[in-house]
Amino acid sequence: MKIGFEIHEQLMTDQKLYCDCPTNYRDAPPNTNVCPVCTGMPGAKPAPPNERAIRAVIEIALMLDCDIVIGDTIYIQRKHYDYPDLPSGYQRTSLPIGLNGELKGVGIREVHIEEDPGKYDPTLGTVDYNRSGIPLVEVVTDPDLKSPEEVRTFMRSLIRVLEYTGKVRPEPSTLRADTNISLEGGARVEIKNINSIKGAYRAIKYEVMRQKKLRERGEEVVRETRAYLESQMVTAPMRTKEIAEDYRYIPDPDIFPMVIEESLVERIREEMYEAPHLREQRIIKEYGIEPSVARVLISERGLVELFEKIAKEVDPEFASHWFKDILKKVLNYENLRVEEVEFTPTQLVKLLQMIDDDKITPEQGELVLREMVKTPTDPEKLVKKLGLEKLSEKALEKAVKKAIEENPEAVADYESGKEEALNFLAGKVMEITEGRANPRKVMELLRKHPSLHV
Ligand SMILES: [Zn+2]
Repeated sequence: MKIGFEIHEQLMTDQKLYCDCPTNYRDAPPNTNVCPVCTGMPGAKPAPPNERAIRAVIEIALMLDCDIVIGDTIYIQRKHYDYPDLPSGYQRTSLPIGLNGELKGVGIREVHIEEDPGKYDPTLGTVDYNRSGIPLVEVVTDPDLKSPEEVRTFMRSLIRVLEYTGKVRPEPSTLRADTNISLEGGARVEIKNINSIKGAYRAIKYEVMRQKKLRERGEEVVRETRAYLESQMVTAPMRTKEIAEDYRYIPDPDIFPMVIEESLVERIREEMYEAPHLREQRIIKEYGIEPSVARVLISERGLVELFEKIAKEVDPEFASHWFKDILKKVLNYENLRVEEVEFTPTQLVKLLQMIDDDKITPEQGELVLREMVKTPTDPEKLVKKLGLEKLSEKALEKAVKKAIEENPEAVADYESGKEEALNFLAGKVMEITEGRANPRKVMELLRKHPSLHV
């Protein structure tokens, strides 16, 4: 099985690709962010391509390890097809800006820039051209993937790279993907209309089954384009490939072709953000943390940034596990992204040091964190406010004594050799201290207590 795909995402620019209409199409009433250029009026003259959008595509291509096409003429082509969302009758799409890249062992065939069409509602028969002309990046992979599961994992990595650049529009994702599948010796089938990673996984799974069944029946798989119908989780024929593929590409005579200069690429390379797969390798080496933990840290750009801000002040091994197990859990629970949290790195360092130095228990630390994500406060103050101050030695000893005195049966059980009775007593101590004691310390005190004779 050979699977490759193309993904498109909208680039984060304030203006469209060939005109200066705004791009906040979701907030604007229909057909208000429009002009003669993005509605394809006869005679309308497009502006040269939006420079910010071109730079964003170069940065994305660099992150995907592509060779940038430097010094050559890059034409903007007209790709013709007829659909109500495309007022000019053609979509402008550039020749490759980046070529021959690689991500996680999968070839990146090319990266280029395109314009988004409008939004057609087939039920109402209306079109909203606010989206028309918004810049898109298109990434095309080689057919190196071999199962729906591989596609799912790879797509996640690829989308993470795009998000890391900060150059694509954030949630809700504007992802659109097409995929092509061929089983050994069979024809290539393309599937369009995929809007999510889950959708890609389901569409491919369905399509593989469909093709296998056809073969079992001795029927031929025809070369065609199919649509993924999300609500029914099936693919359906759209058109046969031979006819549809004739898009009659021509260079757009209204737009001067681009030439990318080396100095621009070098400048972008110097200023650009570190790609997540490279950062993963680096933080493993630099901080000596476990690969599985590193993978969680880089899953969000904000998370790994925060980690690196504090990793020099606390034990990185301890901090990395704490990020993975506690911080992520608390953020999920509060439904917050790490970027939305307002406590300072210094406050976080303080909290982690208190846990690491055994001034508070990890459980208490979690309670403090829950407060900190809501209202950024000095963790020492929160410890006081929440009444989590560590028990004095004396208070702890008193609690142990009390637990022993109040539970003679458990004491007798322990003395007759039942080790688990000690856990019961420890539980009682925790109850008496309202969870403020360190469980390890409690066990230690119980074990050597003079009233317990083994
Ligand atoms: Zn416009």
